[in-house]
Parts: sequence; structure tokens; C-alpha cells
Amino acid sequence: MKRILLINPSGTEQSGYSNPPLGLLYLGGTLLKGGFEVRVIDGCVAGDGALEKSLAEFRPHIAGITCLTPARKRALDVARRAKGFDKNILTVLGGVHPTIMYDQILGTYDFVDVAVLGEGERAFLEIAQGLPLSGITGIAYRGKDGIVKTPPRVYEKDLDNIPFPAWHLLDLKKYPARGLGIVNGIDLAREPRVSVVFSRGCTGHCDFCSTWRIWRGWRHRSPTNMADEIEILYRDFGMRHFCFADDSLTVDKNSILGLCREIVSRKLRIAFHATTRTDLVDEELLRAMKEAGCYNIAFGIETSSPELLKRIGKNNTISASERAISLCHKIGIRSTALIIAGGVGETWETINETAAFLRRIRPDEVGSVGGLWVLPGTRLYKDCVAKGLIDDDFWLGDDPYLLYTVEHSPEALYKMRDRVSNYDTLFSRVAARVRRILKWNV
Ligand code: SF4
Repeated sequence: MKRILLINPSGTEQSGYSNPPLGLLYLGGTLLKGGFEVRVIDGCVAGDGALEKSLAEFRPHIAGITCLTPARKRALDVARRAKGFDKNILTVLGGVHPTIMYDQILGTYDFVDVAVLGEGERAFLEIAQGLPLSGITGIAYRGKDGIVKTPPRVYEKDLDNIPFPAWHLLDLKKYPARGLGIVNGIDLAREPRVSVVFSRGCTGHCDFCSTWRIWRGWRHRSPTNMADEIEILYRDFGMRHFCFADDSLTVDKNSILGLCREIVSRKLRIAFHATTRTDLVDEELLRAMKEAGCYNIAFGIETSSPELLKRIGKNNTISASERAISLCHKIGIRSTALIIAGGVGETWETINETAAFLRRIRPDEVGSVGGLWVLPGTRLYKDCVAKGLIDDDFWLGDDPYLLYTVEHSPEALYKMRDRVSNYDTLFSRVAARVRRILKWNV
């Protein structure tokens, strides 16, 4: 039986946290159903040395590696080591970076054999089944006469047809807790948090984001199918703390209302975090989400300037953001405002306006990295290439991403970030935090 090792490279934690690698677990579910022997290593938990140990013990025929743009060098290092261990191992990269930069990867790194482009479950299964690569849609590989990209794969129309992630391939209790406070009797600071996903893609078309291009729109699972998976995680794995990894969870209000009803009627006492757009929530929906265990929603607000929203292609309004945060306060769901400080067209005037806006709406948290990341596959990247600010060779280097510094220096961008993060006096922010903690510990 063919053995397949799926690897999330070490050092890919975000802000010191890591969730179980959901994409690999989805591949695992499909491959196990296809009759293959599968192991998953998450380098973030198992450590870097786990790779050689697994290669020696498991002796895989195929190594499947997650490759995101900022951590691409880690993924390439894993592929190089797998190939170095045994040149017969077929190395397959999947994820956002190879989906867009497959040509450069296959043309530069001879230890990478195949790139899976976009949705990977069925393409990877066909690779494992040994189908001729030329007949597998949605991949790229090195052929006799150069790099071959096969026709785009038609994505699975009904996400319920995709097998559940193979959760049992990892020890979920090893994942770190994340959060503060007690929700539904669950101590967020102690309970490991796992990601699940209800939908793929987004209905937005923001200039700095490639999600909508990679997923070609938005698809979702049925509420029952999603609740079935949560119930398995709850009853069989003891999971209580969840993060919906969707880019935009609430695109279809009725489906989320249905999901919340399922969670409540099955008596799944959970706490969950979600991300969505401010124009995709209303009071009825937020009340249902709160009842089902939602304690925090991150909203991509980006800026309080309508002009800048237009310039970054974010089709949303400031009043929608104001309303969403105010509803969260009313209903008792924490809100995180995700802000781009120093994006296209930003000035100190617009930054000060955004800080004043935040003082008015008072989200529970502000998330801002300072500056705008320029990533391949986005309209912003194309613009920057056209202006001669970057070219594809950038991705051969070690920098995780290009910081958009056309209008401001990195130092100014970090000051802008600090201005929005510290949008109020220290005393007001500390007082608000204490009030929140008291409110959450109920
Ligand atoms: S709303 Fe968010 S996920 Fe959707 S395109 Fe914009 S940035 Fe990307």
C-alpha cells in the first residue's frame, strides 16, 4: 500500500500560536478513504527534527507539503530534505504559494516534483492513485520539455462530498489554548483551540487578497454536515474551543442560523471565534451565534475612510462597520477590528480619522500588523509589478512578503500601526479591558 506523509513545516506559527493544519487533515481524510496509508507531521508541534524521524520510520512514497507565501522557504526546505532522504519520494507542494508561483518553484527547485493548484483533495488523490500526471487537472509538474500546467480543475460543487478531516492523525490536545475568559463554562486560556471551516472562498474582491481568485467565489457546506463534524470533535476528541477559519463565515445568513440551531439542539457546549465582513451580520444572526457559543468575531474593517476602502477594492461601508461593532457590544460578543495602517493612499489625516472612528465604536481588540503586505496573486501585486516596485525574483529571496512602502517608510508604518492600536489613552483601554474581563467571566 502506498504511504503518504503530509507535512506542515515547523516555524509557521502565527503570533506564537498554531492550529492543527486543517488543509493537510482534509487531504488525509480523502487519502484514507482512498485506501492509502497516511501520516501527518505538524512541525509546529512535533519540532523540526520530527521530519527525518518520520521519513526513516514511515518510508513514504509521497511527501505532501503545505506551502504558504511567507513560509515558502520552510516548505522548500522540507521538500529538499525529503528528496535528499530518498530521491524516489514524490514531493508535492500545495497551498497558496505554489498555486500562484508554480512556474518559478518547479523551474528553480528540482527537488519539487508537483504543485497542486487550488483545491487539493481530489487532485492529490489522483496523484496518489498513480494516474498519469498529464491527465490530472489542477496541477503543474516538470515534463520532458519543460513545465506543464494541466487545465484548471473543476472544484467540488458540494462541499459535503469532501470527507471530514482525519482528525485522529494528530494529537489535538497538544495544541495551545488561545484566548482569555470563560465562555459557556469553557476556560479559553486552557482549552486547546482547533480550526474548522464551513465555507471556502469569499464574495469580496479586495485588491490585496488572493482568496477570491484562488477559490473562485464562495461555496459552503450544509449546516448538518458542519454540525456532524463539530459533534465528532466534541464527543470523540473532547474539543470545546473552535475557530472557524473561514474568510467570511456569514455570507449565507440562513445557513449560519441553521448551523447555530444544530449546535444548540445537539447540546454542544462550545466556544467559537469567527471572521466575517461587517456587512454580513445583523442582530438576529449575532444573537443566534452568541447562543451557539460565539464569543469573538474579527471584522476586516481596514480603514474608516470611504475613499481608501474604494481604492483597495473593499466594497463595504463605514456605517456597516459601526453597526456591526455596536450590535456585538449589545449582544455580548467581543469584536476585533482588523485595520490596515498605511495602505494605498493612507495619510496621517486618514490614520487619525481611523483612530477617532475606533474611539467612537470601541472594538474589544484592534488587529493591525502595520503596513500592507504585497503578496503574489493579488491585484496589488500586479500594480506593484507594473510600477517596477517588485518582480517575481523577490520570491526567490528570504523576505516573507513585500511591505508596501510606496507612500511611507517602514518606520512611519509602524507608527501608524501604533496610532490605531493605541487609539485611546492607556487608562481608557485598561479600564475597558477590565470591564470586558468581568463581563466575559460569567
Ligand atoms: S473580504 Fe477578506 S477574504 Fe474577502 S476578498 Fe476581502 S480581504 Fe479577502
